[in-house]
Amino acid sequence: MNIKKNDTVKVITGKYKNVEGRVTATDPKNNTVTVENVNKQKRHEKARRAQEQSKIVEVEGPIDASNVMVVCPTCHKAIRVKKTELEVDGKKKNVRICPNCFKNGETVVLDKAFKKEAEAQTAAAPKRQRKRAKAEKTETTEE
Ligand SMILES: [Zn+2]
Repeated sequence: MNIKKNDTVKVITGKYKNVEGRVTATDPKNNTVTVENVNKQKRHEKARRAQEQSKIVEVEGPIDASNVMVVCPTCHKAIRVKKTELEVDGKKKNVRICPNCFKNGETVVLDKAFKKEAEAQTAAAPKRQRKRAKAEKTETTEE
């Protein structure tokens, strides 16, 4: 499952189609996610103590992870998360990136924990600079 807590996701099918919300919980075992304001269910909560009152509370029920797509915080598109290996803090880590931004030469790391380091790292990455230099060369015709 490529969806993590606090991701913004968009529902792509069912009753809540096109609703966007923040992921509040994930359950990789059952391949479900719980999304803010999606799949709200009324639950009766019975008073357990004398001071408490029985009430009806609305809680979000989990939905199948295949029904949602992660929304990229940069291009705001619903994307199919791509995984790639990046060197973060001197260690190679699998990070989730946006394939749409990646196509445009930008590495948008979706994992907040690695975001800063990864972006700093990709900004200084010689690989990317080389790519850009090459692109410039093809654009400007050399004599
Ligand atoms: Zn993007």
